[in-house]
Amino acid sequence: MERDQGARPSTHDPMILTSTTGTRRQFLRRQVGPVFLATFGLGPAEAAPPEDESECGELVSLSRIAMACRFEILLPAGEEDAWEPVQEALELADDLERQMTVFREDSEISRVNREAAHRPVAVESRLFALLDLAARLARETAGAFDITAGSLARLWRSCRAQDRLPTTAEIKSARAAVGMSWIRLDHERRTVSFTSENVALDLGAIGKGYALDRICESLRSAGVTAALVHAGHSSIAAMGRPAREQGWTVSISDGTDGSRPRPRVRLRDHCMATSGSAQRFREVDGKRYGHIIDPRTGWPAEAVLSATAIAPTAAEADALATAFYIMGLEATRAYCAKHPGVFALMIVGPPDAQGAPRVVNVGSPDPPLEVTV
Ligand code: AMP
Ligand code: MG
Repeated sequence: MERDQGARPSTHDPMILTSTTGTRRQFLRRQVGPVFLATFGLGPAEAAPPEDESECGELVSLSRIAMACRFEILLPAGEEDAWEPVQEALELADDLERQMTVFREDSEISRVNREAAHRPVAVESRLFALLDLAARLARETAGAFDITAGSLARLWRSCRAQDRLPTTAEIKSARAAVGMSWIRLDHERRTVSFTSENVALDLGAIGKGYALDRICESLRSAGVTAALVHAGHSSIAAMGRPAREQGWTVSISDGTDGSRPRPRVRLRDHCMATSGSAQRFREVDGKRYGHIIDPRTGWPAEAVLSATAIAPTAAEADALATAFYIMGLEATRAYCAKHPGVFALMIVGPPDAQGAPRVVNVGSPDPPLEVTV
């Protein structure tokens, strides 16, 4: 997964199970605010307080660090008997990180990146399905989301580390290796091959969402019917709903101090992801350069302040949030109009007369999905 240069490889902290007893109760209460924060990057989402304490009921939580963020499963209190399968589900995040990361030479994706220009490389069946999904999303977003942006992501990472901007020649050469037309997916043999040298896959924009889908699948097969699962607050999967509620209420930080009502979304069996670059950027000569690169120009995208995508699966939501951030408002409207079940909340600049960021709701969701902006 993408990691900002400077960030350390993920440490595998012990799992934390919060329960309803003893001193943990405090922690639990604090955490169960109805409003679960999705960060989009204008400010630290965790700094924003929950808005009221009633909407999701009491929850227990299990978390662990993987993919350079905290994965957390929240269950309605009383379901913690299921904690062993929940722990197993959470461990999937580690397994999938080992498979997909470009920061380890021995991951399956690193092997594909090394060998696929020389010979077709067989990949695990679920990973193959993910690559196939990524290819579809690249087509549908006209290449805004593109897992072959790896060569560009690598270039920008190394330039960030050297505190400089890439040269035009460097961008041109990295861009030459970008495009799904360089990828061949053989469905019968389940192999991947590259038709050009220097192609590099990077699942940084879809991997966390995919991991959430796999975690939810595992929870479902263990009989869990209601859970909210997130990866670093920026990708969220809502399974079922808390008792007495229509869905899981989550909110999106708009980067302000929290004195204004935040956009809120009620999710039930839907997923949501937010992309923005305000927390992950490098400043050069007073200008901010984010970590999401527009493959069509080779430069960091800057059409909107943040993009939140709501979709049936977390992998789609994750990939589409990245794509919408690049595509901007009008192209996102066109995408949502063509794809029932996909919605967006875009935060666009400049701020209104009161200095508040403008939140644009794209699409008109049906229940059980409710959006209050
Ligand atoms: P996200 O935070 O989900 O928007 O993903 C951003 C990460 O995905 C970056 O750190 C890169 O590793 C990778 N990436 C950057 N630009 C793109 C793009 N246009 N398409 C797909 N992946 C990208
Ligand atoms: Mg993404």
